Amino acid sequence: MRAALLDRPRAPLRIADVPDPAPGPGDALIRVEACGVCRTDLHVADGDLRAPRLPLVLGHQIVGRRVSDGARVGVPWLAWTCGECPYCREGRENLCDSARFTGLDRDGGFAELAVADEGHCLALPEAPDALAIAPLLCAGLIGHRTLRLAGDPRRLGIYGFGAAAHIVCQVARWEGRRVFAVTRDGDASAQQLAREVGAEWAGGASDPIPAPLDAALIFAPAGELVPLALKAVRKGGVVVCGGIHMSDIPAFPYALLWGERVLRSVANLTRADAEAFLRIAPQVPVRASVTSYRLEDANRALDDLRLGQLTGAAVIDLR
Ligand SMILES: [Zn+2]
Ligand SMILES: [Zn+2]
Repeated sequence: MRAALLDRPRAPLRIADVPDPAPGPGDALIRVEACGVCRTDLHVADGDLRAPRLPLVLGHQIVGRRVSDGARVGVPWLAWTCGECPYCREGRENLCDSARFTGLDRDGGFAELAVADEGHCLALPEAPDALAIAPLLCAGLIGHRTLRLAGDPRRLGIYGFGAAAHIVCQVARWEGRRVFAVTRDGDASAQQLAREVGAEWAGGASDPIPAPLDAALIFAPAGELVPLALKAVRKGGVVVCGGIHMSDIPAFPYALLWGERVLRSVANLTRADAEAFLRIAPQVPVRASVTSYRLEDANRALDDLRLGQLTGAAVIDLR
């Protein structure tokens, strides 16, 4: 099969013919139709997250067909959980002590074929198009969990308006929330996308937000946004960090946290999160704004994401 391989951090992916993957016990063999490109893929490619073995196939938003029966399935970031540790038993498998992740511990979907644990594959509908579904499988799922952990905010701030944000914004609007989008200063295309998907205000990080927020979601990997978001939320408000990696958070006065403000992170997802979100998405209906790339152009997809030259979600098209 053709695959894009990470040989070492910070090196371009190598596009090559490699042997087809062999499914182990309990695994499904999947012909990949499309695979979303996530900021986490960038963190692995750049060495911010260390891959336990190389070479590695990145990509954890896989839409494909199970070779055995042709059924459409999705493979998300959570590749495997033990089912036995205290977290798994509490229904918090996203925190599983020995969890494995797609495109990090197991090869992912920047390839024509992938293998995945049958029990962690998601059943997917036949519509919409594979390119439209792929971004739902991490940007959508993690974004939705991030929103759920924010409580029931009327005025929601979203910091960093990429793949996750543009999906969460649609869900939040559908739920009747007011959305305020914060992008990099001067990022007119991200601000335009934010307005198109229902944000009533979109501006740069230096612009004052016109109303106090009940909650803020941070999707950009920039620690300096944390004190900024705490400053923007009212007493009792919640700031949720949705990314897996973030630059250091600068010191800030205790007064920003005072007033029962809450600062928390989101880690991974559970299968129950996935099922809940995949039920909601067609009701909204969520429409992902997608830029597609051929497998041969996987490096360009990563570069475009790294340089912020991308509006919405990047997806590798393997059909
Ligand atoms: Zn992801
Ligand atoms: Zn576990």
